Amino acid sequence: MKHMISILGSTGSIGRQSLDVIRKLRFGVSALAADSNVNLMEKQIREFVPEIAILRNEKAAAELRVRVFDTKTTVYGGENALIEAAAVGSAGTVITAVVGTAGLKPTLAAIDAKKRIALANKETLVCAGHIVMSRAAEKGAEIIAVDSEHSAIFQCLMAGRKGELKRILLTASGGPFRGKKRKELADITKEQALRHPNWSMGAKITIDSATMMNKGLEFIEAMHLFGARPEQIKGLVHPQSVIHSMVEFRDNSVMAQLGVPDMRIPIELALTYPERHDAVAPELDLTKLGALTFEEPDEDVFTCLKLARELAGRHDVSCAVMNAANEAAVSLFLEDRIGFLDIYELIKSAVDKFGGSAAGSLEDILDADTEARKFVFGRV
Ligand code: NDP
Ligand code: MG
Repeated sequence: MKHMISILGSTGSIGRQSLDVIRKLRFGVSALAADSNVNLMEKQIREFVPEIAILRNEKAAAELRVRVFDTKTTVYGGENALIEAAAVGSAGTVITAVVGTAGLKPTLAAIDAKKRIALANKETLVCAGHIVMSRAAEKGAEIIAVDSEHSAIFQCLMAGRKGELKRILLTASGGPFRGKKRKELADITKEQALRHPNWSMGAKITIDSATMMNKGLEFIEAMHLFGARPEQIKGLVHPQSVIHSMVEFRDNSVMAQLGVPDMRIPIELALTYPERHDAVAPELDLTKLGALTFEEPDEDVFTCLKLARELAGRHDVSCAVMNAANEAAVSLFLEDRIGFLDIYELIKSAVDKFGGSAAGSLEDILDADTEARKFVFGRV
């Protein structure tokens, strides 16, 4: 039977690379969903002919409906329609590649429909990791990481047994501002922050990489995915982005996963696991690499990473607040309305104000998320 996939965020960086993998593996597409990109969605529909296509923006969905009237694809619009794409009957795997908390409810819908989740949308685990992971365990839905570091950790863990893990060594490129002093970051422009040395990604995660909040979010993502305690995870700057992370076992044996920095490698594994199929990305030529180097992350400069690490073990809404405040602050930075260092200041103020309340239910988390965003947008 043909392996059928649904993609939430199909017009984005991960979404487009996922479609490239699907094209090469000759898998099928059940559903495509995005925010408002009518032109690219039309092209994707014509090539992959999904059962349904969703645009969150109703006006864009109406335009798309007219444009693809001659195809077999049914178009829906609106936020709730994303849930249709997550639960569509014919899909075995759902790739969650929307940005931010917007991915949370559709991810839960995919879990309830017992899909395999190929999870790129790390923010979902940062804001509601305990709810998402326990729901997945209860429903028997598999979550396989797409994030390159977490795919690496997943693969390294295959070398040992549960209980034999000592430490996760979570690697980071260090971003475009590695080695800079904090005061040198004050005048950073959007254009400078958007220039990542190794990876080509969507705007939000590229800014997260520049502040190193991305590594903070990944720290929390790793805790939830692998049931690790915060003190078992160590961030390690590795500027070449060739080792995608490592795992140290109780006997001090360290496993690493290597590959060219190309997201199609972890995407492919998330779709084919437990099998491995032929490569869709280039091979790694070790002779052309030169040195692989490692250094401690500088948390006095990259304070977002420090904050995320400190909040990681808390059981209240503080991670949800940090995540939402970060999304809001990054969007303000991308609109040139705040400076680079204001991102951290706004997040820290939001966490101080709203971080202490209990995170018992999904509503508690979504309320905290809304409050944090309102607070950040209200400060400019
Ligand atoms: P992009 O900004 O490139 O793409 C985001 C996608 O989500 C687009 O298809 C966009 O649609 C859609 N989208 C955004 N908001 C909504 C919404 N509210 N409802 C429906 N669709 C929405 O992001 P990336 O692909 O870079 O990142 C996606 C996720 O994957 C993030 O969580 C990121 O952290 C994670 N990730 C990304 C990596 C990368 O290499 N890019 C690596 C590891 C993780 P439209 O085009 O219409 O705006
Ligand atoms: Mg990553």
